[in-house]
Amino acid sequence: MNHSVPDFEVGIIGGGPAGSSMACYLAKAGVKCVVFERELFPRPHVGESLVPSSTRVFKDLDFLPQMEEAKFPHKFGAVWTTNDENPGYVHDLEGLAPDYNVDIRFEERKQEGMEDRNYTYHVDRGKFDLMLLKHAQKLGATVYDGVKVGRVDFGPEHPEVYFNIGPKEMSVSCKMVVDCSGRQTFLGNQLKLKVKDTVFDQYAIHSWFDGYDRKVFAKRDTNLDYIYIHFLPISNTWIWQIPITDTVTSLGVVTQKKNFAKSKEDREKFFWETVGSRPLIAETLRKSDRVRPFKEEGDYSYAMKQLAGDRFMLVGDAGRFVDPIFSTGVSIALNSSRFAHKDILAAIEKNDFSRASFVDYETKLRRGTKNWYEFISVYYRLNVLFTYFISDKNYRLDVLKLLQGDVYDEEAPEVLTKMKQMVSKVEQNEKHPWHKLLGDLTSDAFRPQV
Ligand SMILES: Cc1cc2nc3c(=O)[nH]c(=O)nc-3n(C[C@H](O)[C@H](O)[C@H](O)COP(=O)(O)OP(=O)(O)OC[C@H]3O[C@@H](n4cnc5c(N)ncnc54)[C@H](O)[C@@H]3O)c2cc1C
Repeated sequence: MNHSVPDFEVGIIGGGPAGSSMACYLAKAGVKCVVFERELFPRPHVGESLVPSSTRVFKDLDFLPQMEEAKFPHKFGAVWTTNDENPGYVHDLEGLAPDYNVDIRFEERKQEGMEDRNYTYHVDRGKFDLMLLKHAQKLGATVYDGVKVGRVDFGPEHPEVYFNIGPKEMSVSCKMVVDCSGRQTFLGNQLKLKVKDTVFDQYAIHSWFDGYDRKVFAKRDTNLDYIYIHFLPISNTWIWQIPITDTVTSLGVVTQKKNFAKSKEDREKFFWETVGSRPLIAETLRKSDRVRPFKEEGDYSYAMKQLAGDRFMLVGDAGRFVDPIFSTGVSIALNSSRFAHKDILAAIEKNDFSRASFVDYETKLRRGTKNWYEFISVYYRLNVLFTYFISDKNYRLDVLKLLQGDVYDEEAPEVLTKMKQMVSKVEQNEKHPWHKLLGDLTSDAFRPQV
């Protein structure tokens, strides 16, 4: 039923990082909002390593003290590794051979919001998402958890959000809806806005391991809690290594769909076979205990024709997903809320919830995601380029800027243009030493589809 005075000003579908941070921002500004979350938290979730641009949002939301109290491992930087058998995958910096291990620290570049610290966090998403959702509640947001939204009726007046409590269908009305339902892409599906990415068809299989010895790959003790990206000698395939606690480490293989085995049994076999292409990782893993079932994430890349429309916005994974190679998903979700909530506050003020009110958000996000998309495309086309650019003092900080999650301000970062030129050069010259290292993606991939 529609009422002339809606039940809430803003209805938020999903209580992950996008939904909770949106609810925090709005509740802090005194907006009457409600979060619908279909799960009862804590629940496991992929996406455990943050980038420093998240800190700014935690500060805005007065959430940083809780991040510290939770004792999540501090993340000071990132390392890329390969082994002697596949040296070409990481540019072999002088002094770093023979194990081709390249690292970078966040503190090397100044970043807004990071003046007082040189690290971000790796998080157990069960715990982190619960904390942020509770924080939203504490700030005044209403939270309906265990409540799955079934449909939104945009009707003639206010949108009506429908959900089931037991067998009974119920609804609440709001002035606008923010879809933060993650890769479920609730509104994107309902409104038929989703466009499947034809370039990226990555799959992942991952789990947690207790007793995985992180010293094996750390060149220095200070590198122990970095994120590790291990290149594999299989096209477009890599492994993440993310600390979860002092002893538990998350490891996941990301690969192309065509490499991914079909049956569940085959998939675990696939994990071990793939990891086996880096014998030292396999050996280290076998000495540890798997403490969670394997989980898969399939075929996850897509875009949306619109990121906002009359009386709705799509925020976080509900609006776009490419590939997790730079560990940016949670940061994008949090920063999307940072940008989007400003447009929402202005829309409430004007009482105008048409798409035009959300144009700043849409523009900023499109620019950021276009830059992400292109960096990721270059990365998959020619992995070695990244470690090469990191070793070049002219570009090291520009690459770091990306790894810190600062991509929303520049239309076309110079380093990206240089990287694309380099890829073209390598593509055109069969004798170039990197030519044989080109991945399956073509430079067509640099053209964003939406
Ligand atoms: C293989 C892989 C590895 C990744 N690694 C990283 C990483 O290292 N670092 C990083 O930052 N990101 C990573 N990501 C991305 C990260 O997982 C996401 O970007 C992030 O979780 C997005 O947050 P969100 O709030 O938009 O969505 P989600 O975290 O998915 O939250 C959406 C919420 O909506 C709820 N929901 C869905 N449908 C409904 C409904 N109908 N009604 C009510 N509730 C609903 C869900 O239960 C869920 O809690 C990775 C992703 C993948 C696939």
